[in-house]
Amino acid sequence: MTGLPVFFYATMRLGAKLLADTLLRIRDFEKYGVYAGFSGRHGGLSKDAFSSLNIGLHVGDENQVVLHNRQVIAHDLGISDMQVTYAEQIHGTDVAVIDELHVGRGHASLQSAVQGVDAMVTKVNHAALAIVAADCVPLLFADLRHPVIGAAHAGWRGATGGIVTKTVETMLACGASLSSLYVAMGPAIRGCCYEVDEPVISQYKAAYHRIGKKPQWQPSTKHSHRVMIDLPTLLNDQLISLGITQNRILDTAICTHCMDGYYSYRKENGTTGRHGGFIALRR
Ligand SMILES: [Zn+2]
Repeated sequence: MTGLPVFFYATMRLGAKLLADTLLRIRDFEKYGVYAGFSGRHGGLSKDAFSSLNIGLHVGDENQVVLHNRQVIAHDLGISDMQVTYAEQIHGTDVAVIDELHVGRGHASLQSAVQGVDAMVTKVNHAALAIVAADCVPLLFADLRHPVIGAAHAGWRGATGGIVTKTVETMLACGASLSSLYVAMGPAIRGCCYEVDEPVISQYKAAYHRIGKKPQWQPSTKHSHRVMIDLPTLLNDQLISLGITQNRILDTAICTHCMDGYYSYRKENGTTGRHGGFIALRR
């Protein structure tokens, strides 16, 4: 691929009427058989705090509505919602390899999601992986030369614990190659809004120390003992340290906290829905 892939909004139309933008898609991946994108909060049926494209089954929204929303997104990506695989997501760093038997787990219930992991990797054709988030970073991984894809969920614990390293290592073990691996970072709370104190600060410093770089942050203007950090920048620097070149790391640069159209756990005091990252292999 020449040049950095870019994001596009997919639109659902009814006649000439624009209904909603449901996915920020990475069209440049599609000629390689990889269908990927990030959902927002418009275009679904959820109400009130979950309005409207909530894909989280664990937040108190109506199950049937969430399943409808998941179907809308799967349809827009050209895949069956029954092929979309969800992880439990426990703010850990474990990665599951999804084989034929695991494909579609968690698509309709929390209980059947892949337990105990925050990242998944697969080389199964027609399999899709989903990450749900509201401030944490959803990451999508694609090898555009070899049929291997991945998805990861990185809050501060996952990011500082090295979840991107584990995901990339798992992809390499599944036949991916570093030189053709692309990574996309979705909507997340950014350095403009992510104010933290201990123990996040020391874990953030330690994560930078492990890759031999100086941690970047800005002082908080509100609290003297707190700082503003940018997890996507840490994840980007970790990916670079693994040997993934900057021109293969895409960032939506969307802040869920100060930009409209996404769910923010922090801004909405914990009562909110989830948007997500979706990636499917269709060769
Ligand atoms: Zn912000």
